[in-house]
Amino acid sequence: MRVTRGKQLRLSQGQLLGCGVHTFGYDYIRKTPTSRPQMIINEREAEIVRYLFETYASEQIGLDRIAKRLEDMGAITKTGKKLWRRSFLKTVLRNETYLGVKYFNTMRCIREYANPIYDIKHSTLKRINRNREDWIGVEVPAIISRELFDRVQDRLKDNRKRYRNPRQAQLLSTLVRCGCCGGSVYAYRRWERSKRKGPPCVLHSMAYKCNWRFRQQLHSKNSQISRCTNREIKGPLLEGRVLAMVKEVMLDPAKLRECMDFFREDAHAAELRLEKEVKAINGRLEALHEQKRRIIDIYASGDLSRDGYVEKNRELDGMIETLNARSKELAENTVLLHKAGAIDTAIAQYCEGARVRLNKCGSDPSSMRAFMLQYVEKIVHLNGKVSLHGRVPVRHEQGNDTETNTLPFCIESEVTREERYLEKMRTAEAMRYQQSVALLREQSASDLRETERL
Ligand SMILES: [Zn+2]
Repeated sequence: MRVTRGKQLRLSQGQLLGCGVHTFGYDYIRKTPTSRPQMIINEREAEIVRYLFETYASEQIGLDRIAKRLEDMGAITKTGKKLWRRSFLKTVLRNETYLGVKYFNTMRCIREYANPIYDIKHSTLKRINRNREDWIGVEVPAIISRELFDRVQDRLKDNRKRYRNPRQAQLLSTLVRCGCCGGSVYAYRRWERSKRKGPPCVLHSMAYKCNWRFRQQLHSKNSQISRCTNREIKGPLLEGRVLAMVKEVMLDPAKLRECMDFFREDAHAAELRLEKEVKAINGRLEALHEQKRRIIDIYASGDLSRDGYVEKNRELDGMIETLNARSKELAENTVLLHKAGAIDTAIAQYCEGARVRLNKCGSDPSSMRAFMLQYVEKIVHLNGKVSLHGRVPVRHEQGNDTETNTLPFCIESEVTREERYLEKMRTAEAMRYQQSVALLREQSASDLRETERL
């Protein structure tokens, strides 16, 4: 935060500023004409802060477990919520204010431009840390001792040194949604240990799991949250099914057309709208003709001059002409709706394009993923049921200009029992192979020892 001169003066006098003072564990008291602003300890929150620091420093449990414990104890956040998150606990553990000094002037903003020739609209403000010597500290009551704080920082630092697998995008990463809670589904690498007798060995595989399904288990059993019941699915099963759906339905224009429920509904609605307008125009036309007839009557009775009669008739004829033109246009539009030809061509083109693209991919994982990202909008998975959503662009001519609309489609399918069985067999086969290799290795090692002994 940038500190202006007035603020700098107040800071140098040891006064708190009003920004960033809502630290968990403290209450902020605004300044009055007679007293300075103050941060005082909020005993209820400070108790939680102490508990958090002490537990993290002395017990070998993670922040997720601590969050769960806090929920079990019925602790409440500053905003009155009952759920605790790891990320919040981490910011508390890193906050130096608990040592008794609240620091200001710790950050500054710099403006970053996507391109130097762009104007200010294309820039973002980025906060960066200032050097420590620029920080201005103001004394507040301490909650934690220096020794405890340092122990916690050591453990946090150790955690950062631990090895974590780098992120890897799987074939359907970011495309899958949960059919139960609507949340995102992530792909993760998992392993299975052999349960059979013989040398122990593990098999590496991958699965897609609902994000919330994973995160809900980080909260206490007593917490009132809606829970997701969607089970995870093995990677090869889901990917195999999606590929089969693409090959069987998405590349086949006739089958793909059947998956466009939305389109049929839209066309029906459009037809109704057109019908309504045509009806209205017909009514207006009838009224105009009636008016013409009445004018003849008036003219015949001698109440209207010849010039007046001609003028009125011309006016009415003009209106009738415009309405007729509109009516014709509407009729053409309705025909276009029924002219499935344009749409069928678009679908055929789409399928052909997808087929060519898919053939080019071969078995290369990264180009397969690029194909999925281009042709698949999302995949929804719910306990074995899979639906694939996408859009077909349709170009149609409207008067002089061409418009491109997209028609959504949804392919529904389910992982078959046969696929599950085959996947199970494949896993068992791979496990057997691993074990036989491990067995051979063991044998050759013992043989080697034997020969060495002799
Ligand atoms: Zn879910």
